[in-house]
Amino acid sequence: MTHEAPLQNNNFIRQIVVDDRAAGKHEGRVATRFPPEPNGYLHIGHAKSICLNFGIAREFGGRCNLRFDDTNPTKEDVEYVESIKADVRWLGFDWDELRHASDYFEVFYQCAEKLISDGKAFVCDLSADEVRAYRGTLTEPGRNSPFRDRTVEENLDLFRRMRAGEFPDGARTVRLKIDMSSGNINLRDPAIYRIRHVEHQNTGDAWCIYPMYDYAHCISDAVEGITHSLCTLEFEDHRPLYDWCLREIDLPHHPELTASLTARGLTAPTGTPQQIEFSRLNLDYTVMSKRKLMALVDDHLVDGWDDPRMPTLSGVRRRGFPPAALRLLCDRVGVTKQNSVIEFSVLEGCVREELDVNAARRLAVIDPLKLVIDNLAADHAETLSFPNHPKNEAFGTRNVPFSRELWIEREDFMEVPPKGFHRLVPGGEVRLRGVGIVRCESLDKDADGNVVAVHCTLDADTRPGLPGADRKVKGTIHWVSAAQAVAAEIRLYDRLFNVADPDDDSDGKTYRDHLNPDSKRTVQGWLEPAAADAAPETAFQFERLGFFVADRYDHATGRPVFNRAVTLRDSWAKAGKN
Ligand code: ATP
Ligand code: MG
Repeated sequence: MTHEAPLQNNNFIRQIVVDDRAAGKHEGRVATRFPPEPNGYLHIGHAKSICLNFGIAREFGGRCNLRFDDTNPTKEDVEYVESIKADVRWLGFDWDELRHASDYFEVFYQCAEKLISDGKAFVCDLSADEVRAYRGTLTEPGRNSPFRDRTVEENLDLFRRMRAGEFPDGARTVRLKIDMSSGNINLRDPAIYRIRHVEHQNTGDAWCIYPMYDYAHCISDAVEGITHSLCTLEFEDHRPLYDWCLREIDLPHHPELTASLTARGLTAPTGTPQQIEFSRLNLDYTVMSKRKLMALVDDHLVDGWDDPRMPTLSGVRRRGFPPAALRLLCDRVGVTKQNSVIEFSVLEGCVREELDVNAARRLAVIDPLKLVIDNLAADHAETLSFPNHPKNEAFGTRNVPFSRELWIEREDFMEVPPKGFHRLVPGGEVRLRGVGIVRCESLDKDADGNVVAVHCTLDADTRPGLPGADRKVKGTIHWVSAAQAVAAEIRLYDRLFNVADPDDDSDGKTYRDHLNPDSKRTVQGWLEPAAADAAPETAFQFERLGFFVADRYDHATGRPVFNRAVTLRDSWAKAGKN
């Protein structure tokens, strides 16, 4: 049973879609898209956008495209393209069509020619600095560019020569003619094209002029027949520009443009997409900007984009977070217009909830201490049957070897226990999980006085199925049989940052100063055989220790490597670190 996330919770975007359908808008169609820029790996924040866009389409029988927003050739790479596709699928979604904004470069160009021909755009020769100086401020209007009144013929000629590669980078831009005195700076004659003599990962050297995001995005939406263009709140002020472009270009009523779309195998749009903004997902104890995550990778502060401590989707996957836990998080966080920061513990709670239901139980010891059962024969060998899941019989049972010498967790024994310690102490009793009650009779120590083995006797009357099995003792501890246990590399991960807001630089420190030095610890532990031979990416609850996953890359049968996804309880809250 996994958590399915058809947006069960109503939210304002879902409500808009419901209302639009009821009103017959877009002929009742629903089409969304997830539009990542392939300049890095996806992170947990992107999961919110993915769940929302694909979730809405799925719920209403609509379509959702994966569109690579690849209009900025300098920062993009195929490695990112491939990882994004894999991450979307891993999250449980599939796209109707895979598109690239660069598929529409010719369309963008034709739209710009139309705007120029209609006197709605011009070629501007101001330098970047001059443009800034002309732009004005929040309180002062800007000034018209001296090139604003060029004739249509001159503008068209210059634009075609820009395309032909006649001018160097930065020499000219194409700008819309909107309103230099607008209170919304986005409308002060924004640039829609700039010159960049660089190769593009999808179109090679076919182009040396590249469109700006706002201009390309709305046209891409229109070309794909997107009905609801969902984006994050920072684009709210860009919506008037989005609407302006679509209104002035008016794709559905432009015979030449629609003919050119059809010629390219694209469907001519019939309606106009509507941009709707929602708040970003932010998590405490982490940073979620691709730029900062890239810096962590480039400076080797983590072991790559998929380091299990990274908030990337490939990182949390490797960490052992199931995709259903991320869908549950997105469902729980909801979709609103209020910016907020979600506690990392909410995500960890979702992971525990999912894994508690879906992960089989196994026995493992990560800090071993030898326990010898003196009243069993040296060659005693038994096979015990353990349920794989305490709450779900469908998980079946497994065989667990049991013998005279076991590994137990070092912290489950104390020679001089504090008050309230309910596990093993000299002369005391404890239950060995699934075996019965043992009493500690004596200790072996090394030359330095360290306990190296605990000698016990097993009360044979307390074995499972016998009348004495119900005898009460305070503690139950886990164990593995020393002879059959398999040595494993166990990676104990914790939060990457040790402060709630690593982005806060008001004290002069940056997120790099807040890296948690204890975020990764590698130990050698012992596993019962049924854990050691699991396939990579199998998740287990190691009883009493937490949820662990067989590492996606490094784990192999005979050489097990497990990553801790989460502890069983929220240790940060307990330690007062929250
Ligand atoms: P970053 O700042 O991390 O680079 P971005 O917004 O530039 O993020 P894009 O690749 O442009 O990343 O994002 C693709 C889609 O995912 C966009 O629609 C964007 O709004 C959305 N998105 C990005 N980050 C978040 C977030 N934290 N919460 C919700 N949606 C997000
Ligand atoms: Mg971006």
